[in-house]
Amino acid sequence: MRRSKQNYRCSFCGKDKSEALILIAGVEGHICEVCVEQAVDIIEEELYGNKKQQHGGQSQQPAPPPQMADDFNLPENLTPMAIKKHLDLYVIGQDEAKKTLSVAVYNHYKRLRQLAVDDVEIEKSNVLFVGETGTGKTLMAKTIAKFLNVPFAIVDATVFTEAGYVGEDVESILSRLLQVCDFNVSAAERGIVYIDEIDKIARKGDNPSITRDVSGEGVQQGMLKMLEGTEVSVPPQGGRKHPEQKLVKVNTQNILFICGGAFDGIEKHIARRMNTHVIGFKSDDALAQMSDRENLIKYVNHQDLKRFGLIPELVGRLPVATYLEPLDFETLRRILTEPRNALLKQYTKLFNLEGIKLSFTQEAIDYIAKQALEFKLGARGLRSICEAVMKDAMFELPSDREIQEFKVTEAYAMEKFERSKFGMLRAA
Ligand code: ADP
Repeated sequence: MRRSKQNYRCSFCGKDKSEALILIAGVEGHICEVCVEQAVDIIEEELYGNKKQQHGGQSQQPAPPPQMADDFNLPENLTPMAIKKHLDLYVIGQDEAKKTLSVAVYNHYKRLRQLAVDDVEIEKSNVLFVGETGTGKTLMAKTIAKFLNVPFAIVDATVFTEAGYVGEDVESILSRLLQVCDFNVSAAERGIVYIDEIDKIARKGDNPSITRDVSGEGVQQGMLKMLEGTEVSVPPQGGRKHPEQKLVKVNTQNILFICGGAFDGIEKHIARRMNTHVIGFKSDDALAQMSDRENLIKYVNHQDLKRFGLIPELVGRLPVATYLEPLDFETLRRILTEPRNALLKQYTKLFNLEGIKLSFTQEAIDYIAKQALEFKLGARGLRSICEAVMKDAMFELPSDREIQEFKVTEAYAMEKFERSKFGMLRAA
């Protein structure tokens, strides 16, 4: 039997699952968190006469969607906890980074509202993520931008140069942002930019060449004003400034910049700094803990970033620094099944559209996660491993009209995986 495409909505207010923070399933329907709150108010009012003013006696109406602030068109009733809850739906683990980002985003948009009514300036809370590649840095930035419904652009710091060298000028960071919102300058001016590989423009060594600085300090200097907030003349099509291109003025004061990087080797600086702190106390435990990156990365601070090669001015403009932990077996396993758009959910849906009920045994899931760990492929590798496992089934099953159910067992996953290019790698 073919199953119809599911589209979950709140049965009370009709909100789609992508708009709700939480959608609780009942026997025949769903309810979102706003309607639950509304229902609690109704009960309080009816049973205890505890009438809330805002309902004005017409509490049968579902709660309105989050109010938008006029100037910035952003949800008004957001809290850091609500933001984190949303991140939890897509990003597994990384609790510390999620909490830090939630608070930073909350403060950032609170700051925007403040600017709208008075002139007491709260400092901008640009964020810096330190964490290995594939641990969820981009995913986190992307998820937050989608949640807030603001324009979002990803740029790679390594393509930038300071003026006069081959490559792109830092201003073109904003070209991407303008492009994603169809050159709507005011939308771009409250967007989010994720600058990847910020660690790659670190100053190399303490003695930079005075004649050439293709990447490094010059690019960092070039970014300072933009991160802090200024009017930037942006070449709309990106690339180098070109005489024919009419430049577009973009004010970056309300743009949230999130920078990310792996910062390979930063653990040395952390260990050195912490060593000097703990030696006085002869803390053997603390010293023993410092042996590996996993344990050290959580102590990263601005001092370590400067030692790594970020100039103090840049570090100062990224006041919120946090870390992402390397993904362990358990986290990889959860990434396969738990996020809203988890890989295995996607395969299940694909098969569902063919009228086939797809399932994975626990052992098969463990097997896939174990391969990602073994081949050091991280979360990005999960997809290629799944593709290797599922390729034959995806090729063959659509032509088999008889089949209604398909279970992926550990033995099946192993057989397909070992025959794939990965398996060949192991054999070599
Ligand atoms: P990074 O920016 O740290 O290099 P990404 O955010 O691009 O890594 O992650 C690559 C992919 O791996 C994501 O698209 C996502 O599917 C998956 N992924 C990585 N980390 C997580 C996580 N903590 N939770 C859920 N998915 C993750």
